[in-house]
Amino acid sequence: MSADLDPEEFRRLGHAVVDWIADHRAGLEKLPVQTGVEPGWVRAQLPAALPEDPAPLQDLLDTVDRVVVPASTLWQHPRFFGYFPANASLHSLLGDVLSGALGAQGMLWSTSPATTEVEQVLLDGFAAALGLDPAFTFAGGGGGCIQDSASSAALVALLAALHRASPGWRETGATGAERVYVTSETHSSLAKAVRVAGLGARALRVVDTAPGSLAMSPDALAAAQRDDVAAGLRPVLVCATVGTTGTGAVDPVRAVAGVAREHGAWVHVDAAWAGVAALCPEFRHLLDGVELADSFATNAHKWLLTAFDAGLLWVRHADALPAALSITPEYLRNAASESGAVVDYRDWQVPLGRRFRALKLWAVVHGTGLSGLRSHLREHVALAADLADRVRADPLFELGAEPSLALVCLRVVTGAGPEADDAATREVLTRVNASGEAFLTHTVAGGRYVIRVAIGSVSTGPEHVDQLWQRLRSEAVAVVGQVSP
Ligand SMILES: *Cc1c(COP(=O)(O)O)cnc(C)c1O
Repeated sequence: MSADLDPEEFRRLGHAVVDWIADHRAGLEKLPVQTGVEPGWVRAQLPAALPEDPAPLQDLLDTVDRVVVPASTLWQHPRFFGYFPANASLHSLLGDVLSGALGAQGMLWSTSPATTEVEQVLLDGFAAALGLDPAFTFAGGGGGCIQDSASSAALVALLAALHRASPGWRETGATGAERVYVTSETHSSLAKAVRVAGLGARALRVVDTAPGSLAMSPDALAAAQRDDVAAGLRPVLVCATVGTTGTGAVDPVRAVAGVAREHGAWVHVDAAWAGVAALCPEFRHLLDGVELADSFATNAHKWLLTAFDAGLLWVRHADALPAALSITPEYLRNAASESGAVVDYRDWQVPLGRRFRALKLWAVVHGTGLSGLRSHLREHVALAADLADRVRADPLFELGAEPSLALVCLRVVTGAGPEADDAATREVLTRVNASGEAFLTHTVAGGRYVIRVAIGSVSTGPEHVDQLWQRLRSEAVAVVGQVSP
């Protein structure tokens, strides 16, 4: 007898799970975005030993209701404004179920041709829809793939860059002369990629931002590269960010790429959050200069309705990643790979195995159309502009940075100086999160503490930003009332 469910039994239980999901999503708004459980609370609710005997699905769903949901931060809640929201639309869940149903391993084209080719078609299609240079498509000699994350995209871009800088790298490893250029605002995944690649933290060069801005200074990059080359070091990769995680700052990609190319460095553009906005022609200017880059990454799993994980990565040369990463043991040899007529995505990533992630992205774009994706993005940008106007008009608040797309950084104004403002802002953040009504996170920008309001959850609409603003104001009144004389 099979240990698996009988398909008819699956049909019955599957309906119950779908009902659970539909009820959960329909009721989300009434739940607190986050509850304050103590560390260890969840573990204390669960039996330590695994069940020896089978039990009904309903028991599991009851435990999810009783233990899991109350201890979950509800990332799909419409008043989740923390970090960058991670959209898991119901469209994408349906695609993910289909992917799991097939259960195919897409490591090679030959292990499941559709797994590879659907992904190729989608990535070429998105390249066109984002207005990327056709050189990033398979037809144009480049190509795209779906990584698990923007962090992995940065890592494999770095490995391709190391190979391009020195094909001997595959034999001898890093020499100690490699340098990678970022700013203080670059995502920490670049520092991690440098560490994972074995370059050591000394390989990371933190280039100054331009005066009065949080964007990379091309002049400072030029000077850093010049000094390094004069010292016998080798610029390997420059990372330009479109939409930094802290404040949404945008590095001047065209100028940065121009400077990077003088010494042959690979240009990686990290647009993990903001890149998808280029689906709207009015935001496409953000990608100005990306046609000069070697690789470009943006996440469908932040703002593009697709459940984690779906980090989209394009490279200008389809052979760049395989040249750095391909290793073929005998048991993976096959006629299709040897013909050179197919793409083997295992050579574009660190692990061998890979899921059929393209199905959930396909389900999203099929279900919403590009027009639906554009309205989703536009609505959140408009809500952010509206929130920024309210901040500007209110003496209790000020902007901590210029709003960037759907990200607004704000702080409380006490009238008692920067330190008091920082403390009051921190206190307001703590109170809003403790209320369970909304969820916010913070950063430090230009040395000052700011609250980040990242608008972008799947079902966030005007009423939710309104509720957030009312809550922010009432907490600020309470807190500032306490500090001012
Ligand atoms: C979120 C983010 C990342 C990391 O994304 P993962 O997909 O979680 O690795 C990288 N860069 C920027 C700019 C980000 O905002």
